[in-house]
Amino acid sequence: MPPSHAAVSSLSLQALRAARPTLWTRSGKAATSASALAAAPFSLADVQAAHDRFARFSPLLAQLFPELEESAGVIESPLLEAAAMQQALGLPATSGRLWLKADHALPVAGSIKARGGIHEVLEFTEKLALERGLIAPGDDIRKLGTPEARACFAQYQVAVGSTGNLGLSIGVIASALGFRAAVHMSSDAKEWKKARLRARGVEVVEHQGDYEKAVAAGRRQVEADAHGYFVDDERSASLFLGYAAAALALRDQLAQAGIVVDAEHPLFVYLPCGVGGAPGGIAFGLSLLFGAHVHCFFAEPVQSPCFLLRMMAGNGELPGVPVPPSVYDIGLTNQTEADGLAVPRASELAYEAVGQLLAGVYTVADDTLYGDLARLHDSEGLRIEPSAAAGFSGPRLLLGSIAGQQWLRQRKLLPHLPRATHLAWTTGGLFVPAEEYDRFLNRGQGFAANPQAPTDATSLHHSRRA
Ligand SMILES: *Cc1c(COP(=O)(O)O)cnc(C)c1O
Repeated sequence: MPPSHAAVSSLSLQALRAARPTLWTRSGKAATSASALAAAPFSLADVQAAHDRFARFSPLLAQLFPELEESAGVIESPLLEAAAMQQALGLPATSGRLWLKADHALPVAGSIKARGGIHEVLEFTEKLALERGLIAPGDDIRKLGTPEARACFAQYQVAVGSTGNLGLSIGVIASALGFRAAVHMSSDAKEWKKARLRARGVEVVEHQGDYEKAVAAGRRQVEADAHGYFVDDERSASLFLGYAAAALALRDQLAQAGIVVDAEHPLFVYLPCGVGGAPGGIAFGLSLLFGAHVHCFFAEPVQSPCFLLRMMAGNGELPGVPVPPSVYDIGLTNQTEADGLAVPRASELAYEAVGQLLAGVYTVADDTLYGDLARLHDSEGLRIEPSAAAGFSGPRLLLGSIAGQQWLRQRKLLPHLPRATHLAWTTGGLFVPAEEYDRFLNRGQGFAANPQAPTDATSLHHSRRA
């Protein structure tokens, strides 16, 4: 008999409290069930609508951002094969092939936040423009770049609370469209991110305290402003759907690369997770498209495992832990170099949408993030930020831990591994300044020397290394 939910939870909870890297997998029913999708608050039509909105705005985006000229205003990242990284990680070809979705190179925002953040500002812009009669349905969207439209937008403020990257995305697109933009930053936000925003005329408000405090402060400020619009990272459907639209682009890229996804060709996707909106939207979109053949895992820092804790807490399954829980409730610090993931409490919207769809969640130590950041640099020549390296621990834990092996066996996936695709989503890095990146790299090269370094002695399966 499989261990009960409570027994598994108490084991994983010990590892979580001790900030030990751990893999939690869903036991029992198959991860992707049609009923979970049917019960979800969004449909494929909603995801398609977000995708269509990006397409409608592309002529204007191409005009506003010179870096989008070549792509005719399309903000997308490549799907890359990562054979050298696969080798550097010591993942045998018999376990499938490693690819990466290069959102670290997404133009305009330099991170995955380009998807959700830009989508939400475009949705607000479109609604406002229709209300104010700046455009009629079907008009040339470039009308919104005229001085008349910009003068109208200048009366409005767009604000957001952020650990950094969401602020970069919202601030840059809002100010480019002519809005006043304010970004409320937590104390862990990087200096260069604040400087980059200020250089674009965005007001940066600094808060002593964490991400939750910055969001709350932003929300309060905008409530007092009749012409204010607040992008609410903890509750926003528009952000979620902007992320989900990535699934449609990925489906085409997989087909172009000749990658089949079906029962004999499973797709494993490893998604760095903060509040859960970005990975949740993408996991949701992929589940709509690939059903039970896609297996999504979220990746979190050992000190900020808010989504994993939310999954384990369920409807109150953890004695003494409130619902919805915060990582502080179990004695963790929420201190991590992965600033994009430094979030103490998961988004309830994301939890409701994908809590039943996820295959699992795992945690990663900061040292491992730096090691994989350096390994990716040395093997593939790609530059990512620490948060974006969290995906690479996925195959390592899934294939190399007892929990991972048990889950693969239970799901009858072991025979299909040689034809599997492992996709690590690299979520940010394009705009990291060179000196900052060199510090990351120096720190990581010390850890990268040992590719097989076990991250969790208690759960790793050693026979592969024998
Ligand atoms: C924000 C962010 C994530 C995770 O997104 P959430 O919606 O907060 O879960 C992952 N990686 C990077 C680099 C980010 O900035």
